[in-house]
Amino acid sequence: MDHLKKPVIAGNWKMNKTIAEARELALNIVNGWTETGATLILIPPFTAIQEVRRTVNGTEIYVGAQNVFWEDQGAFTGEISPLQLKEAGCGFVVIGHSERRQYFGETDETVGKKVLAALNHNLRPIVCIGETLEEREAGQTLSKITSQLENSLLTLSENDFQKIILAYEPIWAIGTGKNATPAQAEEVQAYIRNLITRKYGKEVADYAIILYGGSVKPANAFSLIKEKDVDGFLVGGASLEAESFLAIAREALRA
Ligand code: PEP
Repeated sequence: MDHLKKPVIAGNWKMNKTIAEARELALNIVNGWTETGATLILIPPFTAIQEVRRTVNGTEIYVGAQNVFWEDQGAFTGEISPLQLKEAGCGFVVIGHSERRQYFGETDETVGKKVLAALNHNLRPIVCIGETLEEREAGQTLSKITSQLENSLLTLSENDFQKIILAYEPIWAIGTGKNATPAQAEEVQAYIRNLITRKYGKEVADYAIILYGGSVKPANAFSLIKEKDVDGFLVGGASLEAESFLAIAREALRA
């Protein structure tokens, strides 16, 4: 089992960038990243995966996808399979992003199926969990996190679980400019690590990668990464410019 270098900084480009724009962004990131000691993952839209993969070839920067279906092939119009993502050059795939859950009906059950399918094809899942503002205000944050983990992840074998990257993404912080405070992120992420310890033991929990996501910017990255249980970031908006993505990665490394 290869352990990724922490911090892990993943950029989710969402439904942005043409192929040409994606190539340019990836190239600027490759040229601007001379540091070692962190793991960078670029997550372009499907159409640009191959191009981004070619652009990062020979570097230590990885490529991921934003979604996957659980079947290998067949009559599933509009879906994409783990086999196809592997062939295009992906090593990672985001599963259960809150936008997929909110707009496209994904549930803990479908997230669980996708995670297993990805693992079967040696794609490492980046699984997103997090609460809505209403759930936070009602004091239900930790119970939401518990049920999301129990329903789709904590049933995995220890070997499979170690391949997963978790991303705590409070939904109220995504794309809003209002990040969780370091203390808010740490409370939930320490709780997640504790659940992992109870299920798989301390060694697995220590190695587990738990990212924070939600309005991460160069200006808040350092204070967030200084928290003990924040192992890196899943970045949306600020990953669309090489300068801000690289600045976040450097801040994460500085800690
Ligand atoms: C995300 O979509 O995973 C995300 C964290 O977005 P943003 O950084 O724009 O809040």
